Amino acid sequence: MNKINHDQLLSLEHPFVKIPVEKFRSSLRTSQKHIEKEIAMLTDKVTEISKKSVQGSMDPKQVEAALEAIVTRLSTLKRKLKDTRADEALYSQRTKVRLQHLQEFTSISTLDSDDFARWSRTRLNRIVIDYMLRDGFRETAALLAKNEHIEDLVDIELFTQSTKVEQALMRQSCTECLQWCKENNSNLKKLKSTLEFSLREQEFIELVRERRPQEAIAYAKKYLTPWQETHMKEISHVMGLLAFQPDTKCFPYKRLYDKARWNDLIAQFRSNSFALQFFTPEPLLNVTLQAGLTALKTMMCYQHEHRNINCPVCDPETLGALAVDLPMSQHLNSSIVCRLSGQIMNEDNLPMALPNGYVYSYNALTEMASLNNGKITCPRTGAVFDISQMKKVFIS
Ligand SMILES: [Zn+2]
Repeated sequence: MNKINHDQLLSLEHPFVKIPVEKFRSSLRTSQKHIEKEIAMLTDKVTEISKKSVQGSMDPKQVEAALEAIVTRLSTLKRKLKDTRADEALYSQRTKVRLQHLQEFTSISTLDSDDFARWSRTRLNRIVIDYMLRDGFRETAALLAKNEHIEDLVDIELFTQSTKVEQALMRQSCTECLQWCKENNSNLKKLKSTLEFSLREQEFIELVRERRPQEAIAYAKKYLTPWQETHMKEISHVMGLLAFQPDTKCFPYKRLYDKARWNDLIAQFRSNSFALQFFTPEPLLNVTLQAGLTALKTMMCYQHEHRNINCPVCDPETLGALAVDLPMSQHLNSSIVCRLSGQIMNEDNLPMALPNGYVYSYNALTEMASLNNGKITCPRTGAVFDISQMKKVFIS
């Protein structure tokens, strides 16, 4: 019972290791690109210099100047590589620490051991930090990571860049997000992202809102027409705005003028940014809780009269809301639960029927009777019975 199923828990930890590994790879790719580009250029330059000096079309002074220019370029390359090396060192260290953290878990075998309690506490802290970062509580998250010495187990700085872009979108500026799209162009293409188109649409809308039609048309020609093959319908709608005032009640133009589109852009940016960095689309806290809730969810959880007081899914305000879209758990054997006590009814706690037909557990009814001079009040109907009137129920 207390044995740990390592595979089940580790299946949730995939992004935990994938994030630093991918950052490491991307940093390596950047260094490689710098090196390849510079080496190709320098080889051409050196060949040209040697050719010209043999032909005599370059005097020694010119050769010296050309070689000095090469040395300057090489120094710049060295500086760039130093920066990417610092990133590589950080992410390789992070990958190592995270693997050690998971390794530590695989060596724990029981749920009630102190080692598991300690490991779970660290896991809970990193899950809470992830939740706080997504909700904008960056400083609190950083403080918790520092106090618990788990900076290498969380990705605070990766959220910092996203926060800057989000804040700019909140100020209704697309510039920072467009720059981010440019920097991540090839990966966004792989994702088939339409974020850049949405941003271009929004900049066009703002020009029309400010009644600057000439500039809006020039903008559309430059930035919207490249998307006409795939987004012609959207482009025609947005161009239609030129004929409508911002206070129009006519759809879809009313929706296009709606300032709430800025929130949609933030949501679209977040989902793209999370996907590029291998973050889960939902906070880890939700994912972890949902994994547990789906094991408990039954058909009865959302039927008011069948709610079990001990079932977290049965509370529609809190965890029940989180479990709405989850599948039901697969119960091979049904268990009957007492509505009064939330305890399972079985041979040790028999189901007992009252004369009105409602069934409760033996333990709950006898406890109630002992506190009320042998009387039982049915919680559903309010009818009062004597304890002697209850009868055993046999389930076939
Ligand atoms: Zn339930």
